[in-house]
Amino acid sequence: MKQILLDAHTHTIASGHAYSSLQEMVQAAADKGLQVLGITEHGPSVTGTCPLTYYRNMFVVPRQMYGVRILMGCEVNILDNEGHLDLTDEYLDRLDIAIAGIHGNCWKGGTKDENTAGMIRVIQNPKIHIISHPGDGTAELDFERLVIAAKESHTLLEINNHSLAPQRKKTIARDNNLELLRLCKQHNVPTILGSDAHISFQIADYTNLYPLLAEVDFPDDLIMNYSPTRFFEYLGI
Ligand SMILES: [Zn+2]
Ligand SMILES: [Zn+2]
Repeated sequence: MKQILLDAHTHTIASGHAYSSLQEMVQAAADKGLQVLGITEHGPSVTGTCPLTYYRNMFVVPRQMYGVRILMGCEVNILDNEGHLDLTDEYLDRLDIAIAGIHGNCWKGGTKDENTAGMIRVIQNPKIHIISHPGDGTAELDFERLVIAAKESHTLLEINNHSLAPQRKKTIARDNNLELLRLCKQHNVPTILGSDAHISFQIADYTNLYPLLAEVDFPDDLIMNYSPTRFFEYLGI
């Protein structure tokens, strides 16, 4: 297995239900040999997350710490099946990296077709770089259409380790993520593994995902976590 150099999707205490400070997160990333760490707090619709002023003040954070490049971002909420987001463009423009995802308690869904159309609008939004946990089962989605749209827009569909934690009982997530991986392989579309760490120890922990990658015989060169250079080039960051 190749060395993981990048984890783009993590949360600090600023998200309200995570447990490490930003500096603890960066130190842990450095200890694990990462070159790039994304800090992506939940968007404002998740109860208890940071206020909008957090995103306005992010310029105070050094983008290089302990030898790790820091991407200050947000995990923006997709609010409905028309692809509306809970951060305006003014805020999206302040982010180093923008992840967008569906969270059940602040999302209004519809039919599979409608959900897919809404998600494709988000994928096509040039300000959005990564879709978090599309396979977690919250929304019924047509994964093949998403994979094709993601390829065209250079947006990454994340394979999320946190969704597969047994405690979260998202039993459909395993099959969904296997299907996403198979489709990415078939259409030659890169993906990104996301730890969705809510404590420093979880950074770059993809333990739940390695069996899926093996089952699909997923090509290493379609996994962005091994090559920050390709990641930045692909996303135009
Ligand atoms: Zn969270
Ligand atoms: Zn997250």
